[in-house]
Amino acid sequence: MVTGKSLSCICGTYVDASSLVIERIGEGEYKIVCPSPKCPLHELGFVKVTHHSKPKFEVKISRMFKDWNILLLGRESCDRLVRDLLKQLSLKLRKFYETCC
Ligand SMILES: [Zn+2]
Repeated sequence: MVTGKSLSCICGTYVDASSLVIERIGEGEYKIVCPSPKCPLHELGFVKVTHHSKPKFEVKISRMFKDWNILLLGRESCDRLVRDLLKQLSLKLRKFYETCC
């Protein structure tokens, strides 16, 4: 979904939970990657899975990605969009985690 109120990467690509790429980098560790192959930032976030009977996902969003979107959208809109993104990412991660490893 591309609207005026979307998060975007510093490379200009609009990003949301469905377009972001999740890469496994280790045991219970994932990278959140910009969908553009030409992106200079590439990594937009990092995920650590805490293993319990119910897996929990600790998502850290790149400082640069956040600052960039605060500049573009203002802090309030950015905070709201990042919160939504994290919620949707958790759902996506859960599916990814259950089917992949
Ligand atoms: Zn990018």
